[in-house]
Amino acid sequence: MRSAIVDVPVVFGGTFDPIHLGHIEAAKVVSKLLSNVPVRMMLAGNPRLRKSSPESIKHRWRMLQIACADEAQLVPDNTEMYDRCSTRTIETIEKLGGECTKPVIWVLGDDAAANMESWIRYETIRQKASVFIHKRTDACLERLLRDFELVENPLEIASRAGQIYISRDPVLDISATTIRAKISRREPVDRWLHPGVLTYIIERHLYQA
Ligand code: ATP
Repeated sequence: MRSAIVDVPVVFGGTFDPIHLGHIEAAKVVSKLLSNVPVRMMLAGNPRLRKSSPESIKHRWRMLQIACADEAQLVPDNTEMYDRCSTRTIETIEKLGGECTKPVIWVLGDDAAANMESWIRYETIRQKASVFIHKRTDACLERLLRDFELVENPLEIASRAGQIYISRDPVLDISATTIRAKISRREPVDRWLHPGVLTYIIERHLYQA
């Protein structure tokens, strides 16, 4: 199993606006369960479902680099950062060479996974990727569980595309939306951010109303 996994790209994509300890801890769980495989922390430059300014991309990228600097297994990845149009997951999966017997492993929270069927070329995603899901909400995964094969051993998802593993490891109950709202209300957020990211935000007055 170990030799199969080392060759498989593992991607944790996000807006990371800002990156928080929920993302970091969740990515570390993935690496741990997949034999310490590196996890690409892939910044969505122009997420399809959200507006984002060039200024915001620069800050988000810098904060991502700061937050990953102490974590050997987490690798900031800017593959999607310079996409001029919306980020399309399938294009990234194809760039990374995802195929049936050597899939890309796409990591996401169940809130994001619940919308996967609306992603562009969902059927092709299923043929070229497997998914690793963190439970963080009560989002309905019924459709995904019909389309992907549920496995009990996380290492199995590396063997071929179209499989799904749902992690029950606890995740931190925090979102970037909550952090942005707290900062704008001048409430403390230090327990959810890497200290270097917090300093970066304070020095540049980010997210302040
Ligand atoms: P926002 O509140 O702005 O939507 P977010 O905190 O959910 O942000 P995103 O960058 O949108 O973060 O999410 C990237 C990925 O990280 C998604 O798959 C999301 O489900 C997952 N994620 C976000 N927060 C957590 C968390 N606390 N634990 C585990 N996964 C998380």
